[in-house]
Amino acid sequence: MTDTLTTLYCYNHPNVETSLRCNNCERPICPKCAVLTETGYRCKECVRGQQKVFNTTQWYDFPIAFVIAGVLSFAGSFLAGFLSFFIIFLAPIIGVAIAESVRFAIGRRRSPQIYLTAAVGAALGSLILLANSLTIVIVYGFPGAGLLGLVWRLIYAFTVTTTVYYRLRGINIR
Ligand SMILES: [Zn+2]
Ligand SMILES: [Zn+2]
Repeated sequence: MTDTLTTLYCYNHPNVETSLRCNNCERPICPKCAVLTETGYRCKECVRGQQKVFNTTQWYDFPIAFVIAGVLSFAGSFLAGFLSFFIIFLAPIIGVAIAESVRFAIGRRRSPQIYLTAAVGAALGSLILLANSLTIVIVYGFPGAGLLGLVWRLIYAFTVTTTVYYRLRGINIR
């Protein structure tokens, strides 16, 4: 509402006076053309352009994100068995590596669903050996070392999954 002194005309409707401007491209827009977004009023073109950037995910991005996250997370979970408590420091690094690999593979095509898909992939990948450890402890009754290995894998699974999700999601926060 800074243009109350100068009369503006909607760029779509040259006869309609307005005091609104699109906060992205600065063009004057009438209330009919204005779309209220999270960041203020925008013209329809800018809203459409924004959606294009954020929603360009292709169907094949989902299996790609899922497989990359799953395979890398599975590979990392082998380390969790050997590294014992060092995994507390290493799991976030593995999580970031997984997130960056997914980001590299899907490029600029991102969506909230992709972050979830990658996180689910990372979770499942890390749960394979976790389930294996669990079976050894429960079915064969090996507490002690077996139980401790289970704890490290549990920490690994949790850390990697959350790191992948928040790392990927963080990219779009502006
Ligand atoms: Zn605009
Ligand atoms: Zn208009």
